[in-house]
Amino acid sequence: MRHLYVHVPFCRRRCSYCDFSIAVRKRIPAQEYVETVLRELDIVSRGPSGCVLDFSERLESLYLGGGTPSLLPPDALATLVTRLFDVFSSRPVLDAAEVTLEANPEDVTPETAAVWRHAGINRVSLGAQSFDDRVLAWMHRPHDAARIGSSVRALRGAGFDNVSLDLIFALPSELGRDWGRDLDQALTLCPSHLSLYGLTVEERTPLARWISRGAASGPSDERYADEYLLAHERLARHGYHFYEVSNAAREGRRSRHNSAYWSGRAYLGLGPAAHSYGAGRRCWNVAAWDAYRRAVAAGGPVVESEEVLTEEQRELERLYLSLRTDAGVPLADLSRPLPTATDLWLQRGWVELRDRHLVCTREGWLRLDTLVTALTGQPAIG
Ligand code: SF4
Repeated sequence: MRHLYVHVPFCRRRCSYCDFSIAVRKRIPAQEYVETVLRELDIVSRGPSGCVLDFSERLESLYLGGGTPSLLPPDALATLVTRLFDVFSSRPVLDAAEVTLEANPEDVTPETAAVWRHAGINRVSLGAQSFDDRVLAWMHRPHDAARIGSSVRALRGAGFDNVSLDLIFALPSELGRDWGRDLDQALTLCPSHLSLYGLTVEERTPLARWISRGAASGPSDERYADEYLLAHERLARHGYHFYEVSNAAREGRRSRHNSAYWSGRAYLGLGPAAHSYGAGRRCWNVAAWDAYRRAVAAGGPVVESEEVLTEEQRELERLYLSLRTDAGVPLADLSRPLPTATDLWLQRGWVELRDRHLVCTREGWLRLDTLVTALTGQPAIG
């Protein structure tokens, strides 16, 4: 276990498209949260959790995700990070690990950024989503476009040289969002990394309700494809390389934490709704903050459920995750002969053969589920 994820569930309000497990709070129970997560780590370390933990190993990555981790007061975040690294014997080489904080622009000031950096956080993933104020209001985001730029400048001023921006594309046409302009605005800020996600409509979200009563249009595959391909072109021109279906980075700036997920490495998740994985076993914690804190206070168990993958499921997952990345899948790992359709995919430029690996192109990534299903005879996992 060299990769640690900590889920911070609190948000100011729910974004219009979000169905994550969050706790909307005006006041964040920061101290209780930090103590509860550290207590969970103590419970996990004394097992039996099935998760293989070796606290003498140094962490390679810590990812504080949410929710909105930047809502935690900076001193509480600093305490959490420091104590986690103390547990994993990693303190002397703190900056050797990738320590990512998901932050929303409205939480970033020169002061908060300075405390985060001093605490050992060295990468910030900023939830920008758009540079159009009308779109941000439609998304129920609390920040405006100007705040994204001032946040990036505050982070740079505090010493962060590894800043990623999240953007959402394929929005309903009636919003009149100019995706090309948003990409240009993002590129002006010179992020080291960009994560681009197509809008999905999840049940029980404001967006799903707007669509069901005709107040918003549903998703369009054509718009998704057009905007996805535009992003590839524009980012390539500025020196970014898509190393995963939704993620592009400058040289040396790939996310080490997320790359561990995609290469099937073990990780431990702490906090409500956090997932852990190792040796074919995946488990996940109770999702609601109140249920989670009560479970931890009672000494566990905190895990709500688990699944043990069969060898066939592990193979399918490996294949799917490999095809998501620019590494592709080794031909030797394809246990069956390649489907005859592969020739057609090669002709159409959906896949390439590179160093005896089958690798998706950007056109192939648009059809990822179809390709996985054809290669395995099973529906893709998503
Ligand atoms: S800030 Fe993130 S986690 Fe919170 S509601 Fe918005 S999208 Fe969901």
